[in-house]
Amino acid sequence: MIDRHKLPQEGLRLTGALNELALEGEDRVLDAAFEVFLLPSGADLYIDVKGKGMWQGACSRCLTPLDRPLAVTAQYLASSDPDLARRGEHTLGTQDLDVVFMPEVELDEADLAREQFELQSPRHPLCQDDCRGLCPICGKNWNKGPCACPSEAVKPESALARALKGVRLDLES
Ligand SMILES: [Zn+2]
Ligand SMILES: [Zn+2]
Repeated sequence: MIDRHKLPQEGLRLTGALNELALEGEDRVLDAAFEVFLLPSGADLYIDVKGKGMWQGACSRCLTPLDRPLAVTAQYLASSDPDLARRGEHTLGTQDLDVVFMPEVELDEADLAREQFELQSPRHPLCQDDCRGLCPICGKNWNKGPCACPSEAVKPESALARALKGVRLDLES
C-alpha cells in the first residue's frame, strides 16, 4: 500500500512478483513480474506500469487452453480532479497522457499492475487463425474433425445471412 500524499518528490519505484495473478473469468498470469513507478505531479500522480508474465486462458472459439507470453506497459496520469479526468488527456513534459480519475489516497502497486494485465490480456485469443470452433449442437471440437450432426443444423451463420437477405428485400420493396 502506498499513501500518495507521502510520495517522495523524485518518485517511488516499486517492484513485485506473483506466482499467479488471477484475472477475470478463468484467465490468469503465471510468474507475473511488475514494476510500478509513481511520480507526484502537483496534486496528480504520474504512473508508469510495466509487467510481464505467462498469460493462461482459452481459445475463444474452441476453448482449448492457451499459454501466451504477455508484456504490458502503461503510462497515465492519475488525478483526483474529476474535471481534468473528464477532459481525458493531459500533457506532461513532452508526453500526452491519458488521465484516469483516481480519488483514492491509498494505492496498491499489485492492483495497479493487475489492472494492466487485465486490460492488455488477449481479447479474443485463438488457438490458430482458422480455428473451426466447437459444434454448437454436440460440442465436438471441429479442429479435430467433423461431427455427425446434420450440416444444415450446425450453420447458424448461413441461417442468419438468409434472414438478413430477407430483411433487405423487405426494405427495398
Ligand atoms: Zn481454437
Ligand atoms: Zn456436432
